[in-house]
Amino acid sequence: MRAVQAAMTEGQRVFLVTQKDVEQENPGIDGLYRMGIVANVKQVIKLQNDIVRILVEGTNRAEAYGYEDREDYVEAQILCYDSDDEEELPQQAQRAMVMAVQETFVKYARIHGKIGQDVLQKVGKTWELSKLLDYVGNNLPIRYSEKQKLLEAVSLTERHELLLGMLLQEIEVLAIKNDFQHKVQERVEKHQKEYVLREQMSLIKEELGENNTESDAENYESKLAGLDCSEEVRERIKKEINRFKGISANSSESTVSRGYIETLLELPWNKMSQDNRDLSHAEKVLDEDHYGLEKVKERMIEFLAVRNLTSKGESPIICLVGPPGTGKTSIARSIAKALDKKYVRVSLGGVRDEAEIRGHRRTYVGAMPGRIVAGLRTAGVKNPLMLLDEIDKVSSDYKGDTSAALLEVLDSEQNSKFRDHYVELPVDLSEVLFIATANSVQDIPKPLLDRMELIEVTSYTENDKFHIAKEHLLDKQLTKNGVKPSQLKITDKAMQDIIRFYTREAGVRDLERKLGEICRKAAKQIYQDKVKELRVTRSNLEDYLGKKKYRQDTKNKKDEVGIVRGLAWTSVGGVTLEIEVNVMPGKGELVLTGKLGDVMKESARAGISYIRSISEAYGIDADYFKEHDIHIHIPEGAVPKDGPSAGITMALAILSAVTEQRVRADIAMTGEITLRGRVLPIGGLKEKLLAAKNAGMHTVCVPKENEKDLDEISEEITEGMEILTVEHMDQVIKAAMRSNP
Ligand code: ADP
Repeated sequence: MRAVQAAMTEGQRVFLVTQKDVEQENPGIDGLYRMGIVANVKQVIKLQNDIVRILVEGTNRAEAYGYEDREDYVEAQILCYDSDDEEELPQQAQRAMVMAVQETFVKYARIHGKIGQDVLQKVGKTWELSKLLDYVGNNLPIRYSEKQKLLEAVSLTERHELLLGMLLQEIEVLAIKNDFQHKVQERVEKHQKEYVLREQMSLIKEELGENNTESDAENYESKLAGLDCSEEVRERIKKEINRFKGISANSSESTVSRGYIETLLELPWNKMSQDNRDLSHAEKVLDEDHYGLEKVKERMIEFLAVRNLTSKGESPIICLVGPPGTGKTSIARSIAKALDKKYVRVSLGGVRDEAEIRGHRRTYVGAMPGRIVAGLRTAGVKNPLMLLDEIDKVSSDYKGDTSAALLEVLDSEQNSKFRDHYVELPVDLSEVLFIATANSVQDIPKPLLDRMELIEVTSYTENDKFHIAKEHLLDKQLTKNGVKPSQLKITDKAMQDIIRFYTREAGVRDLERKLGEICRKAAKQIYQDKVKELRVTRSNLEDYLGKKKYRQDTKNKKDEVGIVRGLAWTSVGGVTLEIEVNVMPGKGELVLTGKLGDVMKESARAGISYIRSISEAYGIDADYFKEHDIHIHIPEGAVPKDGPSAGITMALAILSAVTEQRVRADIAMTGEITLRGRVLPIGGLKEKLLAAKNAGMHTVCVPKENEKDLDEISEEITEGMEILTVEHMDQVIKAAMRSNP
């Protein structure tokens, strides 16, 4: 600082050198380079804390050859080098040297990448060699010691050589450095690139719908990890997944394999739901959902109690038997609800092929598991309530024995290891609660029947239907059709008419359909015509349901000869049948018309034989039957009729025709007849009595042996009717004929 102050007073020139070691605080004269520069001090700025900043401009190189210690500073004796002192170089050589420096510097700048544009431009424009060398040297980011070398190189040739050498070396170093960087970067970039490409590839595949087997397999594997199943099953699925991985995604085999894996993964191997064992809860649910059916409900509750007390395998399988629409399916559903069980329905109607129950082998095209396993898959738990609907409608043909397959399903000894052809692994059915339904007992294959406990669901009386309709069906249909209870009212009388004149069935299915029809019409009126409230009465019922469909069976007005009313049981419940007999002169032939089955025809012959055997008592000639033809006809020929239970009816009609005595119009009868006139029991008593009651009969003759059934028939049916239990035809004749011999 003192040197600067001194310089400022005389000529403002200073001599500047660098010290050899930058780190040294007090280098002394020996620690300094000899070659430095002479510079003009342009500006001195005093800052705080005794700091002075000076701006200098170098003018020449100078070499110190001696130092003189003044009190405040050191003075140097120097030898100045001037540009005038520089050697004389030929013009061409100078130009060549300039160009060499310029070109090399451009190269260097390019490879370095961070040299400013202004520097480059300046270099390009400087044609004086000495200046160019100094300028470039100044702007090269190199170490001090290197720069010192440049400073010390006094002659142009020397300096030029040195600078060019440095530039080239730097270029080399930078090139190597860049190469390294590049290589490292390349390696990093390759990884990055691969990652991005892979991501893109999976996206493209997804977009194209080319399911990548790999991700599916992974998906299956993760599902398998979460599956609760036995080791055997796990191994099997694992094997299949591995196989799947090896198959091309587009092959049909892959679809098969996929279906198989998915089926296995979805089966509830060990998954169970918790049962509700509370019987009073079950009772409540059953009562809420169904009107009447007391016996059925009671049996069901008993059955559930037994099930709670014993182990599952010991309780027999329940089979609900009864005409269609009597609530069998719906009771089963209620039981599932009461027990908090999953409910699945397996429809067996029309199943003829064993494979529908046991599944197809996977080698078949479109192979599937059987209905039982499919049901289990739908249920999602291994202990659902499975309804085997219409078990009486299975049949066997050449494709194997369906009932044998069902037997295996229902047999508690075997069903813990049920083998489905498709699944190929034992499936445990022992936790499933099976309930079967059937329309008639006769059609259930015998071996199956042995495994089941039958609960009979009988037809409903008019009163039952009335209550069911009012308390259950109407509400159901209203909700289904979006009509509020306040918007549609059906009067009791109208309801009775619907039951009587628009339906003829044992159950309530048609009735429900009719109510649905009314609700739909009402919905239209409410929505379109903005009607607020509708009342369906007896008088406007036809607007909703059209003309009456059925007429009531009614008893004939007067007693007639040769006409007797019988009772029959059909799939839609009981009906009354009018049997007519005509006798005309002929050759002793028997003519039967009205679509009668074989059993009925034989029953008619038995009747004639019996009447012939007793005709003498009625004063009829022995030859009478040789000289007359007897014609028996049962109207409503569209309905096939069969069975022996019209025996006594036909016999009585023949007797009446032959003896020309009238039969009471208000009596109906049912019973099989033997050659000796004994009356044998019949089935479907309840339905038959119901039909008699509806037709307004006063007296009904039923076989004595059916007396036990009478106890089970409610008062509602028998009320107002005289029920005669008969053992012999004599009793029938006595009750039905106005005048006896
Ligand atoms: P099934 O299986 O015997 O042929 P469904 O169970 O299908 O008959 O019954 C037909 C319809 O009648 C169902 O909507 C059912 O809810 C109803 N139903 C039958 N019986 C009753 C009843 N006792 N109480 C209430 N609804 C009943």
